[in-house]
Amino acid sequence: MINEQLTEIYKLLFKRFGPQHWWPGETQFEIITGAILTQNTNWANVEKAITNLKSADLLTPEKLYHISVSQLAELIRPAGYYNIKAKRLKNFINWLFENYDGKLANLERINTEQLRAELLSIKGIGYETADSILLYALDRPVFVVDAYTARVAFRHGLIEPDADYEQLRELFQSNLPQDAKLFNEYHALLVKAGKEFCRPNARCHNCPLEELSHTLDNEYL
Ligand code: SF4
Repeated sequence: MINEQLTEIYKLLFKRFGPQHWWPGETQFEIITGAILTQNTNWANVEKAITNLKSADLLTPEKLYHISVSQLAELIRPAGYYNIKAKRLKNFINWLFENYDGKLANLERINTEQLRAELLSIKGIGYETADSILLYALDRPVFVVDAYTARVAFRHGLIEPDADYEQLRELFQSNLPQDAKLFNEYHALLVKAGKEFCRPNARCHNCPLEELSHTLDNEYL
């Protein structure tokens, strides 16, 4: 049964790695900003950009709404692709002001399915970013998937190698309890396993999932 396999994977990862304390951020908006800036860069660079925004006392939707895209781009420069990311962050903020009076609290009354569809309609917000915002900033039970998730799932025979984002999300989301806390921890644990062991060339020796049936097909990812 897939749900039992997924539960076993979770238990083994948690037993080895423990709680991952995701997502770092003092406010919902900081988490959202991090989710948008983290595309195609490492977290250390995102942190530098967020520190710049904090130092300038600008890390709120209201304050960023009132600065220009070019000012924002300059502040987030360490995150890389800063012109594109400044536009994406502005797109999110403009959507929030146009539809929800600029207040994240107003998102609470919107059901998760509708909110996800709205986030995905914002230019520059893709599946992983939208779902990270939903799960980590807004505490909605939406499973976030990424390349690490795909690699572990495929190598453990849970999905086909050509599965797309939605198929992977469905695999986890429909076979686990709808629990945001669980999804939060599970995704973070998969990232940890992917970085430390399940790399493009799998390092199965001493991996927490070594005892489970898996393939050593390294052609994937
Ligand atoms: S490194 Fe090996 S044992 Fe670990 S998750 Fe990947 S395939 Fe599984």
